[in-house]
Amino acid sequence: MRTVYVNGDYLPEDEAKISVFDRGFLFADAVYEVTSVLDGKLIDFAGHMARLSRSLSELDMPAPVSDEEMLDIHRTLVTENGIEEGMIYLQVTRGAADRDFLFPDAETRPNLVLFTQKKSLVDSPLAARGQKVVSADDLRWRRSDIKTTQLLYASWAKSQAHAKGADDVWLVRDGLVTEGSSNNAYIVTTDGTIVTRQLSSDILSGITRQAVLQCARELQIKVEERPFTPDEVKAAREAFSTSASSFVCPVIEIDGVAIGEGEPGPVARRLREIYIEKSRAAAM
Ligand code: PMP
Repeated sequence: MRTVYVNGDYLPEDEAKISVFDRGFLFADAVYEVTSVLDGKLIDFAGHMARLSRSLSELDMPAPVSDEEMLDIHRTLVTENGIEEGMIYLQVTRGAADRDFLFPDAETRPNLVLFTQKKSLVDSPLAARGQKVVSADDLRWRRSDIKTTQLLYASWAKSQAHAKGADDVWLVRDGLVTEGSSNNAYIVTTDGTIVTRQLSSDILSGITRQAVLQCARELQIKVEERPFTPDEVKAAREAFSTSASSFVCPVIEIDGVAIGEGEPGPVARRLREIYIEKSRAAAM
């Protein structure tokens, strides 16, 4: 049984409880982060904490504990649960209050929950095979830059993609790809340029995105941050996605059309290797 963190306590998972009046439960009034673990150490921890603090401040939520305490909680859960490889999920909600659309008064205490998930991340059958994606309207709210737990549309769209035999969905707004259901989206054009949508309220600023674009620049690969169309994906030499738990994951097909050779491409494979190598070296 897992040990879970709830508001200062480390509890067996079946004793970890949150109020039914919690605003995360009632309104998705909550933000989250997912940090990966390799060799029992945290990947890109500082980046996840910086983004958490931005999500909280955009929503006028207080930070429940300091970054140092967060680090301590992450490390304790890794040790308690014997996590060599996997993820740590963290959620902060605005807390429990009588159900009301108005935010409750400032005394309401935020709820903080963290739990671990063991998962093989480096050795990924999906990354080896490459993902098939389908495009779908991006019908999420317009503040995708804030990492809230309002994930119903992304979860629904991904499930519909699965029902069509695909692995994921690439969301499209005004004819342009925004991002995947839970990852950032990239193409490699026929001249070898990596293209990914620029940061704005349309997408989440991926912590992995930042690190992978840095790897690309160090490899002297040209990077263009601009929107691209589903047709450009079909005509691309390669495509891939990035996220904390999938690192760099090749995309080999969109809407039934093979991308490039229809196999994981060399740029995605190389970036995946380098990202993993650099992350391992910098893990804490
Ligand atoms: N976009 C969305 C919508 C996501 O949910 C995620 C994963 N949290 C990402 C992008 C990738 O972000 P990161 O690299 O920080 O995991």
